Amino acid sequence: MLELVKEQIAMGQVAADKSQALSLLAERLQADGLVAEGYLQGLQAREAQGSTFLGQGIAIPHGTPQTRDLVFSTGVRLLQFPDGVDWGDGQIVYLAIGIAARSDEHLRLLQLLTRALGETDLAEALRRASSPEALLKLLQGAPRELALDAQLVSLNLPADDFDELCWRGARLLRRAGCAEAGFTAALQQAQPLPLGDGLWWLHSERHVLQPGLAFITPQQPLQYRDQPLRGLFCLASLGAAHQALLERLCEVLIEGRGQTLYQATSSRTVLEVLGGEVTPDWPSARIVLANAHGLHARPAKVLAQLAKRFDGEIRLRVVDSGEAAVSVKSLSKLLSLGARRGQTLELLAEPQIAGDALPALLQAIEEGLGEEVEPVQAAQVDTAVTPVAPVDEVTAPAAGSVIQGVSASPGIATGPAHVKVERTIDYPLRGTSPSEERLHLEQALTAVDNELQGLIARSDKAIGDIFITHQEMLADPALVEDVQQRLAEGESAPAAWMAVIDSAARQQEALNDTLLAERAADLRDIGRRVLQQLCGVQQAGEPEQPYVLVMAEVGPSDVARLDPARVAGIVTAYGGATAHSAIVARALGIPAVVGAGAQILALQSSTALLLDGQRGRVSIAPSAGDVEQALAERDRREQRLQAAWVERHQPAVTRDGHALEVFANVGETAGIDKVVEQGAEGIGLLRTELIFMGHSQAPDAATQEADYRRVLDGLGGRPLVVRTLDVGGDKPLPYWPIAAEENPFLGVRGVRLTLQRPQIMEEQLRALLRAADNRPLRIMFPMVGQMHEWREAKAMVERLRLEIPVADLQVGIMVEVPSAALLAPQLAREVDFFSIGTNDLTQYTLAIDRGHPSLSAQADGLHPAVLQLIDMTVRAAHAHGKWVGVCGELAADAQAVAILLGLEVDELSVAARSIAEVKALIRETDFQAARALAQAALQQDSAASVRALVEHN
Ligand code: PEP
Ligand code: MG
Repeated sequence: MLELVKEQIAMGQVAADKSQALSLLAERLQADGLVAEGYLQGLQAREAQGSTFLGQGIAIPHGTPQTRDLVFSTGVRLLQFPDGVDWGDGQIVYLAIGIAARSDEHLRLLQLLTRALGETDLAEALRRASSPEALLKLLQGAPRELALDAQLVSLNLPADDFDELCWRGARLLRRAGCAEAGFTAALQQAQPLPLGDGLWWLHSERHVLQPGLAFITPQQPLQYRDQPLRGLFCLASLGAAHQALLERLCEVLIEGRGQTLYQATSSRTVLEVLGGEVTPDWPSARIVLANAHGLHARPAKVLAQLAKRFDGEIRLRVVDSGEAAVSVKSLSKLLSLGARRGQTLELLAEPQIAGDALPALLQAIEEGLGEEVEPVQAAQVDTAVTPVAPVDEVTAPAAGSVIQGVSASPGIATGPAHVKVERTIDYPLRGTSPSEERLHLEQALTAVDNELQGLIARSDKAIGDIFITHQEMLADPALVEDVQQRLAEGESAPAAWMAVIDSAARQQEALNDTLLAERAADLRDIGRRVLQQLCGVQQAGEPEQPYVLVMAEVGPSDVARLDPARVAGIVTAYGGATAHSAIVARALGIPAVVGAGAQILALQSSTALLLDGQRGRVSIAPSAGDVEQALAERDRREQRLQAAWVERHQPAVTRDGHALEVFANVGETAGIDKVVEQGAEGIGLLRTELIFMGHSQAPDAATQEADYRRVLDGLGGRPLVVRTLDVGGDKPLPYWPIAAEENPFLGVRGVRLTLQRPQIMEEQLRALLRAADNRPLRIMFPMVGQMHEWREAKAMVERLRLEIPVADLQVGIMVEVPSAALLAPQLAREVDFFSIGTNDLTQYTLAIDRGHPSLSAQADGLHPAVLQLIDMTVRAAHAHGKWVGVCGELAADAQAVAILLGLEVDELSVAARSIAEVKALIRETDFQAARALAQAALQQDSAASVRALVEHN
């Protein structure tokens, strides 16, 4: 972050011209280790593109995108030139601020400087400044003005007493960025001052960031200390910024006009009486800023110059910034907005020029204001328009066609398509009148509330609870209050509603907490429901009969909400077999095909679909014959499953007598007896991070011990393979802050993370060893990629083992990083076993993010490259008498079972629901034939040809 301190300033510099001044700056930046040699060329190139003169005797030279790599660290250096340097066009610079920054960090600096730029004689004062301290003081500018605008006025609140009004006032100030946490408590402890006429004044100087005044009136007249309470002023006090306002308020009261304040029904009236910032009621237009580095000096200058061509006032604000609109003609004011790429800007122009000015300015912004711009993707955009799916651009697959997707959950399903696609909903930004918009909103809220009530009535408890939460959110007074405020300012009901929802959701998301992020998803969910009501957009009703759900992607929480009795199958346009939604679909036993392509989203709801989850195929409006054949196959599969179920407790032995163990993957400690009941011979993967996620704070050793003990008790002597915590990267734990990483899948995760925090690992290992009680315990470490990681982790176990002996303990690693497979011959000398995590192994081998929306469909574990790594691992392990399991999703893929068997893995660990079927598949196979099949598979050149080979075998 760029901040100004006196050590960055060199006073009394002399330069004959701009070029010499730039050389001095570059030397200084380089001498202080901020940039590498060559940065001077960047400064010169930037000046050649356009002068960096800012106004008031200040220039801000900085490099170009090409010289960004020469920046070692972000910083600024300031040179004062008392004799002035001609910066071109007769503009004289007394202070050059050289910036070394890799991105748009200098926007923050511009924001700081613009406070000073408003001063009339700053240039002269900078020239004369005699010390760094004096110069800094000048740059820090005039004291901040008192904030008082529509967002700080809240009228007719349903408050019960003084305390509630006070709390509301503090909240408005905090939301406007005037105060920080702690201000509310400080205000509550302050001494209230009666102003007469039922108006009260309360102020605090503690925890104030910027001076601001809030005004709140209660819906019903209240009493406080035996006096009427009709309105409350809450001041975040800083310096004398509120002086003028207070004087004005006293005048209003002396003139006996206090009722104009407490009887006001719009914030505009209050602001007019008090002289606050009134957002003009002018025609407006919004646009998303696409400039890579935001509205920095160069584009801002272009915009200001363009605005100056119009004979009237034009203002600009950043939607949802809480900041008032500024004049577009003032460069310094524009820079003070600090507008960034992706933010929505609102232009307001005086009515007589709006017709010409708004389109011209919008076009100029859209064209990049002299810079090349990449349009902002819908997902990065602020408000106004909901996410756009590319569905409008593709045509639906024809009746009779068959689409090949990725098998995500086996089974055959038929039914009408229920296409759930978020289409663009356009709406006007300004409303007809606040009262009409209010009514419109109330009707929509009631309709959605009824809709939710209906959903609650027909859902089971777990799903019904989600809709109850939605109802509560809908009735949240804070949300409604914020929307009302925007309606009073003239916004349309949909615009006001979506702006509030979006900002609330963003706040939750920014907190980087999984639970709050889920809440944000819920908020967006109800946001969209209400928007559809407001805009009269019909949501295709859920078909009465069981249907096939068609969506772009299904998040794990979407799947968790599905009612398996109504959803016969799932088809997604994007995603792959190891996406978490696919894992959940499998756990619920709903047939699913993922990655079927965007065209699937263009299907009409109610089109008949036939889905083959096993083969990853979707037939569109299939013929009666095809459906009949598929249903017959489903019946055969049902029968097979029933037969498999009967045999589920029998070992899995091939026709020619080769046995394989079939274990279960679990992520919770409860219900282990049910897992055993489904045929599990043990647990092959206990994902302990899921157990940690089930606790609201880090479980201590005793809690963990009880958790692990419960699992071992449920197993009744069967082996338990536990994976130590696999968090970090993309799997955060809410209570365990981890620095954000640009590339989390390649970052500090799995064993790398726990080795960095050995006390956590040690606590987990202790709890495991204590819980074992000499029962068969296998411990493995996730994401091992290097020998030293394994050795360090193993050493910790050995040390603790001396303290807590366990008779039947094996220690191994997960093979999910290609380097571990390639190092298997060396590792096999030391480990007791390997468990191959094909989900990650495939991701890292093929360099495809397993959750990538369009690529993950190609992340197929049957790719011959992945099979080669499995083969290497097994051969290395067996050469040292060690066993190998497979615990990734591939182990439950019916087309993969024979190949894994043929590659001679010793154990498969799958979702409990798949155990009986996997065992049955093994029993139907001949080991020698499977070995031949596996050898042939290793020779293929793609996953598709491996699958074709299996199919035709
Ligand atoms: C794997 O990567 O295959 C695995 C089993 O681990 P997870 O899916 O939990 O990352
Ligand atoms: Mg993994």
